[in-house]
Amino acid sequence: MAYHITAKCISCDMCLPECPNGAIAMDQEGNYSIDPARCTECAGFSAPACVSVCPVRCIRRREEETAADPRKAGKKTPSARRATS
Ligand code: SF4
Ligand code: SF4
Repeated sequence: MAYHITAKCISCDMCLPECPNGAIAMDQEGNYSIDPARCTECAGFSAPACVSVCPVRCIRRREEETAADPRKAGKKTPSARRATS
């Protein structure tokens, strides 16, 4: 499992230099992302470095996202079920 950056990111660049694994990158449009193949969730450290420094708390674990929004987990919401039945 890995962390990822949500759309609330304000591109402040606080997180990128803090990652011990070089997992955070910025693209040419200034969008930040985390390479899931490199993110170890900061195993061995007291807390995820990127999460600790992000001023807008936009770095989440995938399972936190899906728990907050069942649509992202592929589960049908009551309105979605009505629309398909
Ligand atoms: S949780 Fe740790 S390893 Fe993963 S992106 Fe953030 S700083 Fe890097
Ligand atoms: S610290 Fe947070 S707001 Fe700043 S670039 Fe990283 S993810 Fe985006």
